[in-house]
Amino acid sequence: MLKVIIDLDAIRHNYLFLRQKSAAELMPVVKADAYGHGLLKVSEALFALGARFFAVGTVDEGVRLKKHLPEAEICSLLGPLSADDFKTLSAFSIIPFVHCWAQLKGLAAILSGARQLEIGIKFDTGMNRLGFKPEVSRQLIEFFRSNQALIPRIMSSHLACADIPAMNDVVRAQLNSFNSACEVFHQAGFKFRRSLANSAALLHHPHTHGDLVRPGIALYGGNPVARTLPQDKNWGLRQAMKVSAPVLSVHNLARGQGISYGLGFVAPRDMSVAIIGCGYADNYSRSLSNRSWMLFEGHRLPILGRVCMQLSAVDVSFVSRIDHGDRVFLLGGEGAGDIDVHELAGWWKTVSYEVLCLLGKNERIFINC
Ligand SMILES: *Cc1c(COP(=O)(O)O)cnc(C)c1O
Repeated sequence: MLKVIIDLDAIRHNYLFLRQKSAAELMPVVKADAYGHGLLKVSEALFALGARFFAVGTVDEGVRLKKHLPEAEICSLLGPLSADDFKTLSAFSIIPFVHCWAQLKGLAAILSGARQLEIGIKFDTGMNRLGFKPEVSRQLIEFFRSNQALIPRIMSSHLACADIPAMNDVVRAQLNSFNSACEVFHQAGFKFRRSLANSAALLHHPHTHGDLVRPGIALYGGNPVARTLPQDKNWGLRQAMKVSAPVLSVHNLARGQGISYGLGFVAPRDMSVAIIGCGYADNYSRSLSNRSWMLFEGHRLPILGRVCMQLSAVDVSFVSRIDHGDRVFLLGGEGAGDIDVHELAGWWKTVSYEVLCLLGKNERIFINC
């Protein structure tokens, strides 16, 4: 029922814009099916513009992409998580980001003979999620000296607060910690590339760029600092995803009548309502009940009552003509009033990332391929 329209031109535009913002090479982050936009199509479009490094999440995503674009260099941000992953990584020359000794030792164990594998090292410089502490750099170097089949080619870390201007000192501290870990490797004679910046850091913290920057959300038109710097709206980034749903019925709701489960919305006046084929089974969250809008020909239509499993109701009292067979937009739109992903995320009480990943699980149509 839902149609997700992905505009590849928007993604190309965003990529070219981001490329101008940094002297470092861009490694597009295409994990989680390119934030719901389609791993293969998005990567193919960016490869054609010159992107060579891609960051996927799981090893399986890496294999899908490698089969499609054999010449691309693919990093798996999660690294090997299962016994199969260890073998697959090496067979497909996927570069795993390695965050712990178990992964490192497991990789060394599966490489036999002359076979080598390039890897990325993930340092925990303050986010306290995954990664080696910079203090173990010397032990890591010892390990690589005695396991020469593993080649640390990328040093990486992830910033916890790059999207929060008031926390620039945290960015600075993480950068210092990252640089000190890199320095130990550099002094020991290792050659590698540095990668620290996500979209927010790409746009706001040029000193963190290093050699490879990892933009995700900005490629899809999301603004990583939308919550903290709303005035810094979008840098001209173009939202690549639109989502529409069909109108199933239009009817009157008399003043005093309730609608949907629990009759949670009661009409304050005689109204005209449209029932839309869209609900939480399509990942349009039930938390949007009574607090979201859809769009039809420039009119914002408020949601009335509960969002159901596959249905929602909207107020169409002020629309002159709408009927079964029309489609409304729940994200994006055509022309005036189009629904910005940050706006929908606000109603949903989440961030653009989650909205895109969830809605992107519906059937997709690609335009401007
Ligand atoms: C998801 C992710 C990114 C991209 O972050 P955005 O905020 O979407 O730009 C970069 N690096 C790592 C390690 C990630 O997991």
